[in-house]
Amino acid sequence: MPKRDSSDTPSYSGLLKAIRDGQVEQLQLFPREDEVQVHFKDGRQLRVPVFSNDQQILRTAEAAKVPLSVNNGQGDSAAAGLLVNALLGLLLIGLLVLLLRRSASVAQRALGFGRSQARLQPEGSISVRFDDVAGIDEAKAELQEVVTFLKEPERFTAVGAKIPRGVLLVGPPGTGKTLLARAIAGEAGVPFFTISASEFVELFVGVGASRVRDLFRQAKAKAPCIIFIDEIDAVGRQRGAGIGGGNDEREQTLNQLLTEMDGFEDNSGVILLAATNRADVLDSALLRPGRFDRQILVELPDRRGREAILGVHGRSRPLGDDISLALWARRTPGFSGADLANLINEAAILTARRNRSAIDEQAMNDALERVTMGLSAKPLQDSAKKRLIAYHEVGHALLTTLLPAADELDKVTLLPRAGGVGGFARTTPDEEILDSGLISKAYLQARLVVAMGGRAAEMVVFGPSEVTQGASSDLQMVTQIAREMVTRYGFSVLGPVALEQDGGEVFLGRDWTRSQQHYSARTAKVIDQEVQQMARAALDRAVAMLQPRRELIDALVESLIEQETLDGDSFRAQVARFEKRADSSSKELSAELNVEAAQVAVQTGILNRE
Ligand code: ADP
Ligand code: MG
Ligand code: ZN
Repeated sequence: MPKRDSSDTPSYSGLLKAIRDGQVEQLQLFPREDEVQVHFKDGRQLRVPVFSNDQQILRTAEAAKVPLSVNNGQGDSAAAGLLVNALLGLLLIGLLVLLLRRSASVAQRALGFGRSQARLQPEGSISVRFDDVAGIDEAKAELQEVVTFLKEPERFTAVGAKIPRGVLLVGPPGTGKTLLARAIAGEAGVPFFTISASEFVELFVGVGASRVRDLFRQAKAKAPCIIFIDEIDAVGRQRGAGIGGGNDEREQTLNQLLTEMDGFEDNSGVILLAATNRADVLDSALLRPGRFDRQILVELPDRRGREAILGVHGRSRPLGDDISLALWARRTPGFSGADLANLINEAAILTARRNRSAIDEQAMNDALERVTMGLSAKPLQDSAKKRLIAYHEVGHALLTTLLPAADELDKVTLLPRAGGVGGFARTTPDEEILDSGLISKAYLQARLVVAMGGRAAEMVVFGPSEVTQGASSDLQMVTQIAREMVTRYGFSVLGPVALEQDGGEVFLGRDWTRSQQHYSARTAKVIDQEVQQMARAALDRAVAMLQPRRELIDALVESLIEQETLDGDSFRAQVARFEKRADSSSKELSAELNVEAAQVAVQTGILNRE
């Protein structure tokens, strides 16, 4: 604000005179404050009060040709207001245009809406080969057959062989399912339709179904070819699941898919491949023979597998001489193929950033740090924890090997299962049981003991107070089996009565209706007692069987930690060697076994009591 010189403020009339006398250079009127700022020719500046709406000074200034400007004071805010208005207007127009555009594109899409969104990759355009997939040899071998069929269908049709129409790849994320599917298409050199199941499902009912129809129509026209539906659980979930009914649209889509799969004749040359990491939630109709009748497990790679995968991804990159892939495979337990690819890629990025010409140990180390930081499940490197899990799993594996009635061990591994922690011991179900659907009491009892094997091993090795909650799902299974034995199969003191209906297994994705109870409170109490008794007996028996074999367990754990995965045959061989040695060195063990047999007899006796 200009300085006011109050000492010689001219009066109003003085100001008029000064204007007429030509002493004033310029005037600036502030109507809101009823003041005028006077710039004299000699450089002085003054503010002089004037009347509101003063005409006199205007005329005087005009007559003397003194320039007069009006400073409204509101000027700034008025300008700002104008700007806001303009912006608002622009925004509105923008919105309008956006809306119009959108509706135009919807209209455009509506025409091709029912079209499948599948991307067709013509034959020969896929460069992925089986060589690029490593570490999952079993899955690869199974799929080799599919390739052979696509290449030389006559070989199969000549002998009347039917090829599976649907092959389902199941495994944890990043294990190479999508890659494997592309490799098949690449090897077979046929057109390859790929779509993610979530792309079937849109906002509008019926679109998914018509997309499925369209996809199969296109595929049949191009046969022989492969349709690959990725992440099929998005449409393939158990129907009727969830509270308040299922999703109609999804169900319609799934029904259409089922219909189409039934619809194409045998050997029509269209092979449907699908991938999921949640086979447990899939609708059972999808897994029926004639549809996805072949399931291929794609599992996390073991040490040798990881080395091979690192090899594949190291092929195209300059690896320093100091890098041992075997060593890096050892350092990355629990890594999926995608994690390994990521590791090497990170190392390459770091190498480029440091202006080195080859990936060295340092870059790999730093890359590992980065990669593991973003990993949800840390690889099992903490060896105390790893050891405990190894003992737990060996407990299961050893019991299933020792008990004649139990399933055969397929493999035991320390690699985490999808979504789970630690390792697992997997068995192959008895073929006879699978075929006949008949389950004996002895088999179920053996299963109880095997399920308790993990907890029992922890108790034997680490002591009763060091057991972990790692057995919680085992205990759930034991409880469920024991309960069914009591309430449904008549395998207990309660005698041959079915107290509960066949309610179907309760698990995620299935309907969640518990069967109704039709028994007295007293019976309920006995059921609970029986279940507890069975569980306890199973645990006791597991402990009794593991205790005398501590040496064997230690040896098995050592080889498991060393190799990460032991297959059933090598496991059995190791057990057999030990049992033979123990047998020849002393008769103690066989005495022990006799005690066990006696115990079983006693238990069976108790259970048979009516
Ligand atoms: P999934 O479909 O099982 O989730 P992807 O097939 O998409 O996994 O794997 C992602 C990437 O990880 C692949 O493109 C590949 O680079 C790498 N990868 C995964 N598994 C393997 C494997 N067994 N061999 C070689 N590379 C693999
Ligand atoms: Mg995938
Ligand atoms: Zn367990």
